[in-house]
Amino acid sequence: MIMILKSERLNNVSYDLRGPVYEKAKELEQQGHYITKLNIGNPAPFGFDAPPAMVQYIIDNMHLAQGYSDHKGLLSSREAVKRYYEKKGIANIHVDDIFLGNGLSELIMQSVQTLLNDGDEMLVPSPDYPLWTAAVRFAGGKAVHYLCDEESEWFPDVADIRSKINSRTKAIVIINPNNPTGAVYSKELLQEIVQLAEEHNLVIFSDEIYDKILYDEVEFTSTATLSDKVVFVTLSGLSKNYLAAGYRAGWIMVSGAKHKATSYLEGLNLLASLRVCSNVPAQFALQVALEGPTTVDSMVLPTGRLGQQRTICYEKLSAIPGISCVKPKGAFYLFPKIDVKKFNIQSDQQFVLDFLEAHQVLLVHGSGFNWKQPDHFRVVYLPGAEELSQTMDKLALFLSTYQQG
Ligand code: PLP
Repeated sequence: MIMILKSERLNNVSYDLRGPVYEKAKELEQQGHYITKLNIGNPAPFGFDAPPAMVQYIIDNMHLAQGYSDHKGLLSSREAVKRYYEKKGIANIHVDDIFLGNGLSELIMQSVQTLLNDGDEMLVPSPDYPLWTAAVRFAGGKAVHYLCDEESEWFPDVADIRSKINSRTKAIVIINPNNPTGAVYSKELLQEIVQLAEEHNLVIFSDEIYDKILYDEVEFTSTATLSDKVVFVTLSGLSKNYLAAGYRAGWIMVSGAKHKATSYLEGLNLLASLRVCSNVPAQFALQVALEGPTTVDSMVLPTGRLGQQRTICYEKLSAIPGISCVKPKGAFYLFPKIDVKKFNIQSDQQFVLDFLEAHQVLLVHGSGFNWKQPDHFRVVYLPGAEELSQTMDKLALFLSTYQQG
């Protein structure tokens, strides 16, 4: 029998957020168990609603959304993206350099594929949102991981980035606010990374999909405001800030030293046209979303839903013997450290599987985020306060007797 084999391009590609642990949770669910899902940043199932005006605008325009749009997306929506970033202080933006997509995921794949040749290197954070590593590998490139340092609020280690730049390095990925750590980077740190990009002619991909989910009045800087000598690809979407992950709407914008990026922009244009256009009803949403208030603005306050859930999770986790964690400043994730010696942990995936089987709580192991040691896991604090509190108690109970192996 001659087997039908998947492309070798996929051999090195993984996405553990939907891997074996997730499959096990689905199996338990099919057997009738209720699973507490702290595994995925999908707000709607936890009772979060997108801004009502945005939803209404899609409904009102449904009849106008029946045909294909331009492959880059509706002009009026791209104009809204332009205004959004102009207000943040990014200069020299043109609507022709903005591309709308079916969620940011599609655009991450396209924007990386457009840049890389086989063997090219891209600097990707560790830990990362794992689609970035997957996208680089799928494009034939090498994902070179730079360290984000837990001892320094999970900020990127600039010396480590510098030491990993060589003649094959094409770009640096920055995820800010960060998934999975919840870090929000200072302007000074971003300036240092931009300086490196300037020196070595690197493209900066700045994934800013959580740029409205900020706590404790932390200041957020959009990386592309910091130089006109670097080519920036700024990426975002509706999934998180506007609580509408299911609409599958995202955008990318090329700015900065665009005179160096004419070929790259041609490539983006070609890839966008090959898939004709993104989902048109969702494109309409951008016009209202980016210009109106979003419901997350009040949720991130200390008394707001996300603010409270963050505090409960952080405090309860920090009180568990053998667990420590950095308080997140943005997004809705925590990336706690677990004492591997105390619990004899060799495999972080086994640890989350064991907890899933014992208490029907789904977490993601740290190595799923390209973190090298088995000593972290990610918690999504989207479920309500009471469920989160009970779940953290279950984790404390579980760990009070846990020994792996
Ligand atoms: N980038 C980051 C950092 C994310 O956390 C996510 C989703 O979790 C995405 C991109 C993809 O978002 P979407 O495809 O829903 O727009």
